[in-house]
Amino acid sequence: MNDHILIVEDEPKLSGLLRDYLQQAGFVVSILDNGLEVVPWVREHEPRVILLDLMLPGRDGLDICKDIRAFSAVPILMVTARVEEIDRLLGLELGADDYICKPFSPREVVARVKVVLRRASGPSAQEAGLLLDEGRYKATLHGQDLDLTAVEFKLLQFLAAHPGRIYSRTQLMDRIYPDQRTVGDRTIDSHIKKLRKKIAAVAPDEELIHSVYGVGYKFEG
Ligand code: CA
Repeated sequence: MNDHILIVEDEPKLSGLLRDYLQQAGFVVSILDNGLEVVPWVREHEPRVILLDLMLPGRDGLDICKDIRAFSAVPILMVTARVEEIDRLLGLELGADDYICKPFSPREVVARVKVVLRRASGPSAQEAGLLLDEGRYKATLHGQDLDLTAVEFKLLQFLAAHPGRIYSRTQLMDRIYPDQRTVGDRTIDSHIKKLRKKIAAVAPDEELIHSVYGVGYKFEG
């Protein structure tokens, strides 16, 4: 159960304090203090949550966050020194999961980490009443056939495999068209639109596929 948390912070006092609190809460913690190291490290180690400082030597948190979002849906908590900054960051639609302002209470940070972890492992497809029969590309919701195309089935299956996790259009395209066929972003949007329509026809009150503005899509039962 030892979730691996990455702290990216160039003030050793702060990162040490956070590490102590997170370790006490049962997490495994790694610390990086230079912006240039972050993206390759995340690719290799796949942490479960990233605490990402905005101002870093080497490379700033904005660029790092954008880069990570291109290949991973790992929850990112952006840490900033100024509360006024948060509005601007929200406007940039970086795909961060939460924003924390310095000075922070380490207890509060631990609590927020737990929240994003919980969100990332939300209710499963089965709990949402969804059954996926891979052999026949057949999906039923509350016992009713959704009548999906193969592409719609694959999209739903992929999203439902990780409830709460946000996937970018690029990630979904790579998954659906692994042979790198050239398709535009809108292709995914159009498949998702049809998929949601079919879900709505069976269960009008349940929105299983959520769009995350500026980022992509996620499954949430
Ligand atoms: Ca800093």
